[in-house]
Amino acid sequence: MAKIFCVANQKGGVGKTTTTVNLAAGLAKVGQRVLMIDLDPQGNATMGSGVDKRKMALSVYDVLLESASIREAAVLSEKCRYHVLGANRELAGAEVELVALDHREKRLKAALAEVADDYDFILIDCPPSLSMLTLNGLCAAHGVIVPMQCEYFALEGLTDLVNTIKQVHANLNRDLQIIGLLRVMFDPRITLQQQVAEQLKSHFGDKVFNTVIPRNVRLAEAPSYGLPGVVFDPSAKGSQAFVEFAREMVERIQKM
Ligand code: ATP
Ligand code: MG
Repeated sequence: MAKIFCVANQKGGVGKTTTTVNLAAGLAKVGQRVLMIDLDPQGNATMGSGVDKRKMALSVYDVLLESASIREAAVLSEKCRYHVLGANRELAGAEVELVALDHREKRLKAALAEVADDYDFILIDCPPSLSMLTLNGLCAAHGVIVPMQCEYFALEGLTDLVNTIKQVHANLNRDLQIIGLLRVMFDPRITLQQQVAEQLKSHFGDKVFNTVIPRNVRLAEAPSYGLPGVVFDPSAKGSQAFVEFAREMVERIQKM
């Protein structure tokens, strides 16, 4: 049975998509069967996995509106070696269209039941909001991975996310938990970042992943080649950190 994780943080530009595609590629690299779901109408995780969002026949939009199954809509990214259920601008409309429908927050969960045995990991890239799309991700998941930059304001937004997760846990999905905070875009030369990184670890303990993702220009360059850094330049420091993170995730799920 696949373990399902949302990569979420309602803050924009904190590294959600970079984390999702590189963790997906890292997990594939260590032999895991992976499905990556893009729940963001921006479609960055789709493009960043080598799938052209403008040329997709079917997307996660069709799955949410029940006009296609995941098996029909997902495609294999051959270079990345994981499956992609892509998103594009069409998905922005789903938000409104779902409002009138029954079980609107559980559409993705229902669709995933059919493919649970096809994968070891299912990763969901969430948009920078606590919207109906993110709610569909949270209802479907066993856990949430929260990428965070080690900055002074990083903790501020965390309270909203934690409260949302608590509410979803209480009312919609008893399985849901925060798996961990992932420290990303880390620059060890900046003293403040070192301090915040250490504070996070001492305050949240086990809820903070041991792996730290460094700021690394190769990770930022990779999307323009339609690839995760892990595939684009496996020897880059950032790519190696994501493969390390994939190994840490494999270990964690054995304890879940
Ligand atoms: P949004 O909220 O818009 O969905 P996001 O949280 O998904 O954004 P990303 O798109 O992953 O964030 O990252 C934001 C920017 O930071 C991108 O330009 C990305 O290439 C860059 N970036 C992410 N992680 C790193 C890193 N470790 N080193 C260098 N650049 C990074
Ligand atoms: Mg993103």
